[in-house]
Amino acid sequence: MRITFLGASGSEVTGSNYLVQTATSSVMVDFGLFQGGSRADKLNVLPKGVDFKNLKAVLLTHAHLDHCGRLPLLVQTGFRGRVYATPGTKDIAALILRDSAKIQASDLERINRKRQRAGQQPKPVLYTIEDVEKVLNQFEPLPYHQEVKVAEGLFLTVAEAGHMLGSASFSLQQRGAGRNTTVVFSGDLGPRGAPILRDAEPFTKADLVLLESTYGDRDHRSLDDTVREFTDIIAKVVARRGKLLVPAFAVGRVQQLLYHLALMFRSGRVPKFPIYIDSPMAIEATAIYRRHPELFDAEYQALNPRRMTEEDLATVKTCVTADQSKALNELTGPCMIMAGAGMCNAGRILHHLKQNLWKPETAVLIVGYQAPGSLGRMLVDGAKQVKIFGEPISVKASVHTLGGFSAHAGQTDLLHWLGQVAPSRPQVALIHGEDRARKPLAEKIQQQFGITCTLPNLNQSLVVGE
Ligand code: ZN
Repeated sequence: MRITFLGASGSEVTGSNYLVQTATSSVMVDFGLFQGGSRADKLNVLPKGVDFKNLKAVLLTHAHLDHCGRLPLLVQTGFRGRVYATPGTKDIAALILRDSAKIQASDLERINRKRQRAGQQPKPVLYTIEDVEKVLNQFEPLPYHQEVKVAEGLFLTVAEAGHMLGSASFSLQQRGAGRNTTVVFSGDLGPRGAPILRDAEPFTKADLVLLESTYGDRDHRSLDDTVREFTDIIAKVVARRGKLLVPAFAVGRVQQLLYHLALMFRSGRVPKFPIYIDSPMAIEATAIYRRHPELFDAEYQALNPRRMTEEDLATVKTCVTADQSKALNELTGPCMIMAGAGMCNAGRILHHLKQNLWKPETAVLIVGYQAPGSLGRMLVDGAKQVKIFGEPISVKASVHTLGGFSAHAGQTDLLHWLGQVAPSRPQVALIHGEDRARKPLAEKIQQQFGITCTLPNLNQSLVVGE
């Protein structure tokens, strides 16, 4: 089996995309968008060297944009195979891809107006909503824990990854004459003990493991400490009557924050105050979560999420239309506004940041990974001034980073997951992490398991089992 690292490798954390080739078949795992900065735009094309007409299938680990965001490009290639994904992933991917097409269309309109004024050629659109609908028709539901033949001689088994609704780790086995070869793709792994979803389930046998390493260099603060800090920040900002802006990944993070807010209100630790979910996508994602109670962990099922939403979260309001979103500008605090995009590189959060970053009573709560080059990363890194829609905006707001709400496993949890498969002596390739995260994780893996990791670069290949 030849594995080629076409994304989320080298210095790229986003753009997940791996090509798996055998003598008889080829499949791809994930086909995500590169995110953050202008370099990402150049990478968001069809990868060279992939024969899409003969590609048998695409296997999707989960529905985050950096894993599924280029799937609509398949429509332009003559790819006739199936896109395998769990039912939860399919539902969320539909939501995320439709939104992605919409955001791209509106961004492009703005960019092309500018280009037109500058006498430049218009930029073509990456894909349209029609492309999205076409590729969604090629989705095939993938059950957890049941082996599925995805191509000639290639068999896939799916485990829970605990990262977002429907998220999966893959074990892809090639069966040939004489010997079997197994490649395990961790996908993005969630932290152990996170609320709502079940924890990641490890595999026990592999010849090669592709392990994500987003937070390979550190452990997050414990969830208990994080919730305490979250409560303290909220109490402070509510007292100074500021607006709390939360650039939130609409899927997963918003639902998790609502869960903590509900418990906070239920316990009376902070009095109820207005919370706005300013994201049609987050509103829909919350509805999709409710449709998949089979994926919830026992603790969450026992809480009865429906009751919690209705009673504890009575001050939560949703903004569906752009006018409802704009009306929030007129509002005085205290209030919390959760809006996308999660890395502040697009979406309604940009308008709220532009309107409020310069006010000292504002607080920005960063609750997820921020790619280098994104506006969110600049805020985390302490920028005193940022540009939004071409306008310089002074940063007077307080910026708080709460890593403990991450949907990614920290170093200890990554090592724990790998520890279950390590006795089968696999090769390990660290992907989906900056070198500052991959290198310390590689050292730990060497120390604990005696395995020397590969840190693949973009477009590098590994051959296994031949
Ligand atoms: Zn993810």
